Amino acid sequence: SEDAPYNNVANTDYSQVTAREQTKQALQQVRQELGKPYWPWIAGQAMITDQIQASVNPSQPTQVIGQVGQALIPQTERAIKAAATAMASWQNTSAQERVMHLRRAADLMEQRRHELAAWIVLEVGKVLPEADAEVSEAIDFCRYYADEMERLSAGYQRDLPGETNRYAYRGRGIVVVIAPWNFPLAIATGMTVAALVTGNCTILKPAAPATVVAAKLTEILVEAGFPAGVYQYLPGPGAEIGPYLTRHPQIHLIAFTGSQAVGSQIYEDAAVLRPGQTHLKRVIAEMGGKNAIIIDQSADLDQAITGVIRSAFGYSGQKCSACSRVIVLDRIYDTFLKRLVEAAKSLNIGAADQASTTVGPVITAEVQAKIRDYIALGKTEAKVVLERTAPEFGYFVGPVIFSEVPPQAQIAQQEIFGPVLSVIRVQTFEDAISVANNSPYALTGGLYSRTPSHIEFTKTNFEVGNLYINRSITGAIVDRQPFGGFKCSGVGSKAGGRDYLMQFMEPRVVTENI
Ligand code: GLU
Repeated sequence: SEDAPYNNVANTDYSQVTAREQTKQALQQVRQELGKPYWPWIAGQAMITDQIQASVNPSQPTQVIGQVGQALIPQTERAIKAAATAMASWQNTSAQERVMHLRRAADLMEQRRHELAAWIVLEVGKVLPEADAEVSEAIDFCRYYADEMERLSAGYQRDLPGETNRYAYRGRGIVVVIAPWNFPLAIATGMTVAALVTGNCTILKPAAPATVVAAKLTEILVEAGFPAGVYQYLPGPGAEIGPYLTRHPQIHLIAFTGSQAVGSQIYEDAAVLRPGQTHLKRVIAEMGGKNAIIIDQSADLDQAITGVIRSAFGYSGQKCSACSRVIVLDRIYDTFLKRLVEAAKSLNIGAADQASTTVGPVITAEVQAKIRDYIALGKTEAKVVLERTAPEFGYFVGPVIFSEVPPQAQIAQQEIFGPVLSVIRVQTFEDAISVANNSPYALTGGLYSRTPSHIEFTKTNFEVGNLYINRSITGAIVDRQPFGGFKCSGVGSKAGGRDYLMQFMEPRVVTENI
């Protein structure tokens, strides 16, 4: 039935010796393959470029993961031309055939699960269990959107005597996918396969620090059999080719996940009708968050501490779903803070490929510097209660916790995207909710409480796209927790949810008198 739940693929069970062995082998195998060249994929072939850019391991930046050919404007033009050429036939391919390609891609990812996780660990510094979960999410996106396309492709029919009416969807045109580095496989896959399965030709522009994982995705999509020109892989300098793509008159839709500043710029650029353009563009933008977890006096603190630590410091706080504010009721504030700091002291900061690591590096030296600036700023706005020292051999930032943070402080308002947590004291539960909502963002939010009235009040009044009660606020799962926010966090689209594919299609009605 329409309401049958999707069956999510299982993560690797690392308690099994064989799984750990396979993982170790995959890491070893990937280490042998480091430093190889990767090229843009345009019109069904690799395109050798003049410029290359090294992608490095943030845990150990001297280690080159791959040398990636850089597409500039001429290659970007060719990618658009290739997509335009392939468009007519792809749009008219049956949904069933497009769906088949997604299912093949999912199967290939499943076969290469440990290898893909290893590439994620080494290229973006994510610890293995989280990299493995990311592979699961990528597989789920392929299979779930395949199911969804089957459901939607039925359209519907309304027939009267002498008249038939057929309602059906079709692809919009050329889609540009601008993907982030923090979920280099899952989010790039989700946006790309959604565009493809709905009948759009697609250009994937990966984030610079994640181009090798995107090249692995490209290998998979090519092997899955998407015809030439239907899918393009276009790594290149974002500041140059990004705006060129989003302003181009032949682009129909831009699917973006990343910062609010870039997303808003894309929204603006896409709104302008350019010479020769005969359509209006659509933008799907999933942007930042300043996500809060509220802790009231009835909270189970064992649960709350674990959930806050995981939400704030998992992947070094580099998820748009991450917790960056904890709002704590006065009556439990001191107890909570003490235990939080103790728990954060036991986090293991280190290289992402070490099994003992719980907090890996941040993505680049620039990001590291920016986070350090926020830490310095925080010291002028609030009280530092924990500042862990970090190893020097990579782009590490030790987790930092600030207490007595004023709700209006810059560190409590701006997205830091690092392992920096602000703890805010409030007197009443109503204050907790109003402080939580006092943000331009509305992505994720959480509550730890055993008070039914607080839980009910929160469900109605906490303005976020994904609200989590008595659990961590990261790690949304396809179909179970369709993911995405509103306000300045995005356009309200839900990745891994049933409205998602609609955005990539035009509905049409054909009425025939007979
Ligand atoms: N979907 C991810 C989660 O629930 C976050 C995605 C993102 O950071 O963009 O943790």
